[in-house]
Amino acid sequence: MKLTDNFGRSIHDLRISITDRCNYRCVYCRTGTNGAAYAELPFEDYLRMARILVGLGITKIRLTGGEPLLRKGIVEFVSDLAKLRTADGKKPEIALTTNGHLLAEIAQPLKDAGLDRVTVSMDAVDPERFARITRVPNGYESVLAGVRASRQAGLDPVKINCVLLRGFNEDQIVNFGKFAREERVVVRFIEFMPLEEDRVWTPEIVVTLDEIVSRMSEYLPLEEIAHEHSETARRYRFSDGVGEIGIIAPVSHPFCGHCSRIRITSDGKLRTCLFSVWDHDLHELMRRGATDEKLTEFIVKVVEKKEERHHIGEPGFVPASRTMVHIGG
Ligand code: SAM
Repeated sequence: MKLTDNFGRSIHDLRISITDRCNYRCVYCRTGTNGAAYAELPFEDYLRMARILVGLGITKIRLTGGEPLLRKGIVEFVSDLAKLRTADGKKPEIALTTNGHLLAEIAQPLKDAGLDRVTVSMDAVDPERFARITRVPNGYESVLAGVRASRQAGLDPVKINCVLLRGFNEDQIVNFGKFAREERVVVRFIEFMPLEEDRVWTPEIVVTLDEIVSRMSEYLPLEEIAHEHSETARRYRFSDGVGEIGIIAPVSHPFCGHCSRIRITSDGKLRTCLFSVWDHDLHELMRRGATDEKLTEFIVKVVEKKEERHHIGEPGFVPASRTMVHIGG
């Protein structure tokens, strides 16, 4: 059986948040005062969910949070996930999204355990600005060391996620272009979405795909790279062939029609969209002793009703029932 929703989209991409704790308090994500809000499950519970979902056609699993590297035992968890097999006998692709603060030490063990790819979030490439955004002093050097250790471990290409806010860090665009070329990483700019704790989002604050391309092109000409149908990022290479950037533009160029994702929150709720206004309590069913068959039935029914699209910027937009850090980005 494969997971398909009522709009004919095939679902093969799973994100699991393994904690909603975070050691950074990025100004566009957190209030700075709120902490963790939801429970964490033992890894064996996420593993059971992942096993059932891989049996239903999931081929890619991304671990996220909160900050996933705060969870002890993540290396063993990756190694257990790496033993799962898709219907055609392959290991699922395993990826990680992290702020990179604790990555330097653990990049090689994660790679050895079966991690395929890592995405590191960085919203500035100068140490002072980085500290202002994360509200943690001296993080930049640790994150840079994490990026370099990941490349060295063969987690290639390392991707860097950067969220731009007008008037705050959009002057970093060209610096990120240089960073992509010098550090041999793929920098991906993500348009800011209304998923923050502080509700500061306005359409004006979003730095759009068109603006990013235009600014970057003043530095060096860009050539668009053909992208897969289900790929969320528009990809560009610099015209001299050195360095790649991508732009994920859910606000100005939504890609809901190609969405192939579902999410599990740290407390075991199934979410079918970042902007869902409710979630589905998979863990409660497990806790009550449901068999794999019952869980499968539940998942199939929930996924069928996946939302058609988000409504960012439309009149009457209803905010998601959780903010990004408590969903898993
Ligand atoms: N702690 C990990 C990290 O920093 O990558 C994983 C969780 S974090 C919530 C995942 C990603 O979501 C980060 O790249 C972050 O910049 C991004 N993010 C957070 N809030 C966002 C928002 N409102 N719009 C777009 N991206 C957001």
